[in-house]
Amino acid sequence: MGCQMNEHDSERLAGLLEADGLVPATDIDDADVVVVNTCCIRENADNRLYGQLGHLKSVKDRRPGMQIAVGGCLAQKDRDLVRARAPWVDAVWGTHNVGRAAELLALARTGAPVTEILDEADGSAELFPSALPVRREQGWAAWITIQVGCDNKCAFCIVPAVRGPEVSRPFGQIVDEVADLARAGTVEVTLLGQNVNSYGRDLTSARRSDPQWMDSPAVTGPAWADAERPRARPLFADLLETVARIPGIRRVRYTSPHPKDLRPETIAAMASEAAVCPHLHFPLQSGSDRILAQMHRGYDAERYLAKLAAARAGIDDLAVTTDIIVGFPGETDIDFARTLEVAAAAAYDSAFTFIYSPRAGTEASARSDQVAPEVIAERFERLRVVVERSALAKHQAREGRIEEVVVEGPSKRNPKVLSGRTAQGKLVHFPPGEGQVLLAGSFADVKILRGAPHFLTGELLEVTAMPTHRRRLPVSAA
Ligand code: SAM
Ligand code: SF4
Repeated sequence: MGCQMNEHDSERLAGLLEADGLVPATDIDDADVVVVNTCCIRENADNRLYGQLGHLKSVKDRRPGMQIAVGGCLAQKDRDLVRARAPWVDAVWGTHNVGRAAELLALARTGAPVTEILDEADGSAELFPSALPVRREQGWAAWITIQVGCDNKCAFCIVPAVRGPEVSRPFGQIVDEVADLARAGTVEVTLLGQNVNSYGRDLTSARRSDPQWMDSPAVTGPAWADAERPRARPLFADLLETVARIPGIRRVRYTSPHPKDLRPETIAAMASEAAVCPHLHFPLQSGSDRILAQMHRGYDAERYLAKLAAARAGIDDLAVTTDIIVGFPGETDIDFARTLEVAAAAAYDSAFTFIYSPRAGTEASARSDQVAPEVIAERFERLRVVVERSALAKHQAREGRIEEVVVEGPSKRNPKVLSGRTAQGKLVHFPPGEGQVLLAGSFADVKILRGAPHFLTGELLEVTAMPTHRRRLPVSAA
């Protein structure tokens, strides 16, 4: 139901349940177990969840043996409320004990329904989704959690409350996982963290001296472990470089970085490592210094634009995307005009624009100066126009170029056309050659014919590499 971290948790849940003997169902009506993995960062996730649980109740009334479970950050936040509002739910778990899913479902089968929410995780396998079996949806690409939680206190954001403080995964564990994936044919990895570019901040000497973590390159990475020990801790840039050099890995992406933590070393690693994609997601949130201060973002518009200029100067042909919230409490017309100005100056390739949504328990939700929905709707539309203008210009500037595209599969709108992504993360639609079947994960050179605000269209010139990842074959019991 939510962000990439939530989707990766779903992959991990699927992996755990498959390891426990379950097989994926194609239809809810055939499922013995249905898990709703919730996210509460934006929108009215509560209504969606309880609406969905209402529908599942009618399925369960027809098939009483079916089990319904709710996990994820809304469950973490609501705890006992989930079963109070939907007593037909068999198991509820939070963000820190996803690894217990199969056990909790088994427990619920033998006795009463269970709710188990932990305030913090109790081991690195629990903390880091990828340390458990994962059923990855696409063998050629994989998400890797490198850090969980967030130490910032953005006034609008529920993440610190539901995901806890920042914890970085040991360097060596990440590198080993990527190397294993690469050996199995994965060519693209996306490093995930709520605040991904502050990776390593908590790998301080105090933590490294803990016997469980040990003071070793497996935790800290080779740059720190050098004889001269040049840094007090591993940097995100060290990880980026190391992962990019793993044989077989052709594309490295990461999300979501925080602008205040963008360091010159990261820009340098992006510039020098061919496998690191020239794409920076750089969440602005607001262009008004007054609102940025109230959000506790740790930068103002000038510093944000200066860092962006440094990234563009350092990294060739960089695509830049962002997140912007419209209607933070107290946002005036003047504040919003600044957001439009800064968005225009940043000239984004695309943007996720969000209507501010009060999240119970956050600092901003307690404010009495919430902005009227009709004012937000009008601002939202004006921001859309500004973002689409720069996106269209960026995309039209690519017309006539030859781009390397990784095929993702048939286009959602027109199955006769293939969709893929360029290194910059741009969606490209192009027809395959006559009678040609191009599998997901293939690399192709595509000539860009037309740029639209949200995608490119092109023509296939040449297939340059076929996928080598292991594919899942249907297995029959007979
Ligand atoms: N850590 C990242 C950062 O600091 O930019 C963002 C992670 S957050 C999961 C993803 C995006 O959700 C944020 O960048 C923000 O734009 C949006 N978001 C978070 N809380 C929100 C809220 N209460 N209302 C609207 N959008 C929200
Ligand atoms: Fe939320 Fe701010 Fe942390 Fe991002 S940096 S996850 S917006 S608290």
